[in-house]
Amino acid sequence: MFKTTTSRCRNASLSSRRKSSRTYTDNNGYKRFKDSDKLVHRCVAEMKLGRPLKDTEIVHHKNRDKQDNSFDNLQVFKNQSEHWKIHKIDAAKYGWSFSLKGSETNKK
Ligand SMILES: [Zn+2]
Repeated sequence: MFKTTTSRCRNASLSSRRKSSRTYTDNNGYKRFKDSDKLVHRCVAEMKLGRPLKDTEIVHHKNRDKQDNSFDNLQVFKNQSEHWKIHKIDAAKYGWSFSLKGSETNKK
């Protein structure tokens, strides 16, 4: 039996009622669930959308805070180039260091 990998966010309870940490921060500064190793912000975005994210879709943190996974802070782009437009605008306004502080890319 193979499970699909698309809906592993099912058990991701977002409310912080339970303080006990079910997440950890990975090397890139993103929160992940300890049990599934899934990125928290992608799970939140899936719940916001009401459907699983496609692999090509990118979840962006509006306030550039990677740790802030609230609904309102997350924006889904259909692909990386759409996502990068935002960061380029950011960079033009505030500089790259600001823009990339909350980057959701896998690039360093
Ligand atoms: Zn972004």
